[in-house]
Amino acid sequence: MRLGVLALQGDVPEHRRALARFVPRAEVVGVHRAPDLASLDALFLPGGESTTIARLLEESGLWSPLGTSLRAGLPVLATCAGLILLARELAPGASGRDPPTLGVLDVQVRRNDYGSQGESCEAPVRIEGLRPPPFVGAFIRSPRILSVGPSAEAIAWRDGEVVGVRSGKVWGLSFHPELSDDPRVHRAFLRSVGLVR
Ligand code: GLN
Repeated sequence: MRLGVLALQGDVPEHRRALARFVPRAEVVGVHRAPDLASLDALFLPGGESTTIARLLEESGLWSPLGTSLRAGLPVLATCAGLILLARELAPGASGRDPPTLGVLDVQVRRNDYGSQGESCEAPVRIEGLRPPPFVGAFIRSPRILSVGPSAEAIAWRDGEVVGVRSGKVWGLSFHPELSDDPRVHRAFLRSVGLVR
């Protein structure tokens, strides 16, 4: 199994470390340029700064090949800034400076809507198909999912509020499972796209 981590900016080492631990038999590659997308079984979009990642996607020539791969069915797990980049629509936020998005996930989100870096927290998240105990989700300047459109479905909730969605093989989470010492989300994703049993 060959798994890619978009490696332009953000918590790339943390994603790679989590994959090495949670899916030890997988080959994990950093995605820097369009050819790196070839022959991936799944891609992970890290958290980080979505405006910076969007700019680097453009500069590296990855923006449109990535969109093409996603529309062709490449499975993707996107966390936080990754979710922002996949969203259909961004609701204007306080910063007023939002990145362009790839639009493959039918949700409207607002950036930084759980507060500033200092208001980062861990919170119990209920995830469809995962047995208790609740997953401990790390929320770091996370986007809030304001609405879920008809072609996406909610799969994770914090206090009843949606914090994770999927549309086919595209998953987007407003928290960071790569920062939790718990492989269940990664395994559930890989199972749902048929890469592990
Ligand atoms: N606030 C960041 C952004 O808008 C996302 C934060 C994160 O990925 N932890 O890009």
